[in-house]
Amino acid sequence: MTPAGHASAAYLAGLSIPWLSMSALVTGALLPDIDYVFYSYPWFSGIHRVLTHNVFFILAVSLPALLFAGPRTKGRVFVSLLLGGMIHLLTDACFDSNPRNGIGAAILWPLSNAFFSPFNLLDPRITSAWWPDIFPRSMDALVRIAWDLPFVIAAGAIFIKRRKEAVTRST
Ligand SMILES: [Zn+2]
Repeated sequence: MTPAGHASAAYLAGLSIPWLSMSALVTGALLPDIDYVFYSYPWFSGIHRVLTHNVFFILAVSLPALLFAGPRTKGRVFVSLLLGGMIHLLTDACFDSNPRNGIGAAILWPLSNAFFSPFNLLDPRITSAWWPDIFPRSMDALVRIAWDLPFVIAAGAIFIKRRKEAVTRST
């Protein structure tokens, strides 16, 4: 998924649990793809969906909330960051078109190099070429954006509707 897809999926999931901090949930859902800072390196495919796509990384980036968030919100922010990260791992496990280092995410790395994917909705053959090959990468991007669109449209529509309702209530 793209960052917009991850943010939208987390937002939609968070709507069913009003107790959660939506901003922390969406932030948690975006953090695992921080590994894209290494995208231009030839070894990126080897670490993508490994280094930052495991439960230990999710825990490591969620734990500071218990230290630095306010006393009344720290539990809520911690759980929201944790859930957002887990939603990211689950969606990546189900939408993977890059078979270079496995299908899904290495959710228990470094304890295990095994990739978790209950099912895969994308065709991994699309990107069986090397990352720098522009045509397969472009096709892959279009397919991924097409899968993200329903999430982005639904989340955007609900977000706008809720904002309008909040403005109406305040006037
Ligand atoms: Zn990811």
